Amino acid sequence: MTFDHIVVGGGTAGAIVAARLAERPGARIALLEAGPSDEGDARVLTLRDWPDLLEGPLDFDYRIEPQPRGNGAIRHARGKVLGGCSSHNSCIAFVPPDRDFADWAARGAAGWGPADVAPFFDRVLEKVPLSDVEPDNACGRAFVQAAEQAGFPLQRFNREPLRSGVGWFQLNQRGGVRLSSSVAYLHPLKQWGDRLTVRTGEMVRGIIVEGGRAVGVRTDAGELRCDGEVIVCCGAFDSPRLLLLSGIGPADDLKRLGIDVIADRPGVGENLLDHPEGVVMFESAREVPTATTQFWEIGLFAETVDGLDCPDLMFHFGTVPFDMHTAPAGYPTATHAFSMTPNVARARSQGRVWLRSADPKDPPRIDFRYFTDPDGHDERVMLAGVHLARRIAQQPALAPWIARELAPGAAVTDDAALSAYVRRTANTVYHPAGTCRVGDARDGLAVVDPALRVIGVDGLRVADASIFPSMTTTNPCITAMMIGERAAALVGG
Ligand SMILES: Cc1cc2nc3c(=O)[nH]c(=O)nc-3n(C[C@H](O)[C@H](O)[C@H](O)COP(=O)(O)OP(=O)(O)OC[C@H]3O[C@@H](n4cnc5c(N)ncnc54)[C@H](O)[C@@H]3O)c2cc1C
Repeated sequence: MTFDHIVVGGGTAGAIVAARLAERPGARIALLEAGPSDEGDARVLTLRDWPDLLEGPLDFDYRIEPQPRGNGAIRHARGKVLGGCSSHNSCIAFVPPDRDFADWAARGAAGWGPADVAPFFDRVLEKVPLSDVEPDNACGRAFVQAAEQAGFPLQRFNREPLRSGVGWFQLNQRGGVRLSSSVAYLHPLKQWGDRLTVRTGEMVRGIIVEGGRAVGVRTDAGELRCDGEVIVCCGAFDSPRLLLLSGIGPADDLKRLGIDVIADRPGVGENLLDHPEGVVMFESAREVPTATTQFWEIGLFAETVDGLDCPDLMFHFGTVPFDMHTAPAGYPTATHAFSMTPNVARARSQGRVWLRSADPKDPPRIDFRYFTDPDGHDERVMLAGVHLARRIAQQPALAPWIARELAPGAAVTDDAALSAYVRRTANTVYHPAGTCRVGDARDGLAVVDPALRVIGVDGLRVADASIFPSMTTTNPCITAMMIGERAAALVGG
């Protein structure tokens, strides 16, 4: 069977690309998704249960390379289900500040400046309306008040320019059900008829390129062909992986693995970005209330040096113990605990994704090189976050809640020890991006041009978080959705 276009990966961006293309009159679109459908699956749709998906059957659960300056035990969750990570995540919703897209444009992503992306965010927010978190949790209210006492004004996220301050998040959820891209754009699947063929449980193993043009894909079940384009939306690990398996990437690496080179693109898999996240955890002197939407309802932004145009440090505040890396490292934990998790909002360390072998069933190799940027920026911001967490904890509003600091523990005070602690026990906010970055077609390390076309191969685009040239200051899911909207508009003009 031949389609107009084939969308590979029905995740955050891919579900939107497929739905928008299938809305066109007479469309014949194929959407191939590695995981199962999320339709009617309460495990996925119930937002509050999101932590239960970690390391389960709907999680690719990728391992990373040892990290000499970070935590090599981090397990990178990736939703293997329709909706992708938007079916797995905690639905914290942000439209990033304009400065992030000004930075994209300055890095060669012409047409991705703040005014260019704004209409596509508007389209997303029409389909995915955001809701305010109600300030019901008394422990959360105490944190917000303590942050205000420490000098951070209350913010209304997404409704005023992002600045140093504290606030309750907006979420892409309705009545406790996540508004993932699949819920908002694809459900009910039966509405599409012949216009959209959704094949779940179908892992694409390679892109078929003939005469320099992508004409279809290979899966374990066989081949699928299209007259138009193949749009790869497999996310920041699996999009570069699929390009590499298809012979698009650094020629020497491909030859070494015995893969025929279709296009020598040295940037495929490079520029791996993330938000590394530390934890300062406290045992609570009171029972921590369970009233919550998803346990992490509050954010704080700060500027760690003077003269910045935008915060460079973010905190999530969780009304739960966050001990997945502190407990194995020997730090105490508690049933009633709360956590402040500083993250480096615009981390500069850059990692890499590459192939373990030419066998498409082998998971990719992933090296974040956390905390290796040459000027020590990421370590400095993280350390500033640990100090700030303690300053907030000392404010009167939190005093009645604090029994003791569990990790790193009050005895740890010098910067070298605090840095060693926070890097060794760091987690990720699960925001990998950047591995097929958009840029000027003459830029040797760009993978896609500003129209998201893979440079050097016709009929092939990438549309997901892998195209980020630089990390957004805020959580990236709504931006991945914006990329889906933008990509659909670009396909076919
Ligand atoms: C646990 C967790 C919590 C998070 N919390 C938040 C949050 O609260 N707010 C926020 O903004 N961001 C959050 N994020 C990050 C955010 O969800 C992601 O950055 C974003 O959803 C990525 O979108 P994507 O389209 O790039 O990739 P994905 O959504 O991962 O989509 C990729 C899709 O491709 C499929 N796929 C992969 N390979 C193949 C293949 N070869 N063949 C066929 N299909 C394939 C996958 O199964 C998946 O469905 C979180 C992420 C995780 C994992």
